[in-house]
Amino acid sequence: MKTYLQVFSGGFKNQIIDLEELMEKIKFVAEKSEVSGVIIGWAVNREFYAELKKGLDEYNIELYFWLPVFSELDYFEEFQDVINYKNESKKSTGFQEDENFNFYCPNNRNNIENIKSIFLKHFSDYDIDGVFLDKIRYPSFSNNLESVFTCFCDTCKEKMEKRGINVSELQKKINDIFTDGGNNKNPLGISEYKDFKFDFSDPLIDKFFKFKEESINNTLEELTDFFRSHNLKIGLDLFAPHISYFTGQNIIKLSSMADFIKPMYYRATYAPAGVPFEIESYSESFPSKNSGEIKKEFFEFIKETGDEISDKYMESELCELKNKFSINNICSGLEFNKIKDIALSNTDYLERSINSFYNSKIDGIVLSWDLMRMPLEHLELYIKLWNKNKL
Ligand SMILES: [Zn+2]
Repeated sequence: MKTYLQVFSGGFKNQIIDLEELMEKIKFVAEKSEVSGVIIGWAVNREFYAELKKGLDEYNIELYFWLPVFSELDYFEEFQDVINYKNESKKSTGFQEDENFNFYCPNNRNNIENIKSIFLKHFSDYDIDGVFLDKIRYPSFSNNLESVFTCFCDTCKEKMEKRGINVSELQKKINDIFTDGGNNKNPLGISEYKDFKFDFSDPLIDKFFKFKEESINNTLEELTDFFRSHNLKIGLDLFAPHISYFTGQNIIKLSSMADFIKPMYYRATYAPAGVPFEIESYSESFPSKNSGEIKKEFFEFIKETGDEISDKYMESELCELKNKFSINNICSGLEFNKIKDIALSNTDYLERSINSFYNSKIDGIVLSWDLMRMPLEHLELYIKLWNKNKL
């Protein structure tokens, strides 16, 4: 089982991390277990990473630069935001300083070229082994009420029409979803969940989600080719498999483009990408006041019999990815950091999760998402379990 350590070095605007303190923490884990890579970003400071790289080389640890893709980059250039089904652009209000979760259209040519040119201008001379691409998706239910139903910019509309989607009809259908004040417990009309994808009973809604998936796949294909042409390895930050499809992520397809994927199994996180937070946001996104029933129905579709994603459920999902789809580069993300009101992990939760990871025989674990905020006892637990399972 490979071990990756993830570190937030600060937003593009300001670095919040000290090299010496960071190396201390990395050494603490690396000397008592084996660390394959450090994922760190996205503060801008070439010398800092060059020094870090030297330190990591002594331990044979790879360095991945953590790069947000369809969000946050408007610090450098202007991007075309995603447009909602009412043809409006709604800026996200932001989540914390240095991270605004404002999403850009993944189909817009100028956006794609911006991503490449920002990398070339600011990061291509960094001494790194790879890039770790984050926010490679559409906004999720947690962004704002209707943000899953993006993007309706001119480029996307044209592309959808070419795929046989009647765009104005689709917009009307979506509007109906958000004005249905009844007690519909399945507001999106999900008809089936299979192979980590949802089918929808309305053919237009179904085509729309397929279009989103195709858009993310195509753009990621282009971007991963681009980064590979710069001799970089690639890690991908993905939503947990049972919620990823809503954001356009097809975990199976994306795994084929990367050296490793990190499904974010953040089951104790109450912030974007956190599993309970995203599922709550889904069930509360619709005018139906029946959010409890919406959540229950969702769990029935995904075949989780409890009222939260259990260890057992996560384990069976990972086993399916490994055994049915032969994916051999799964490094699950687990929130080892503890952040008040946001990341509520504890040693019991971590131990259960890690055991599930070992049981499902996945390829690695990413200690997420900020090493500097991981309590010592969380790291000690990891080291203990790593050594126990090594035997
Ligand atoms: Zn668009």
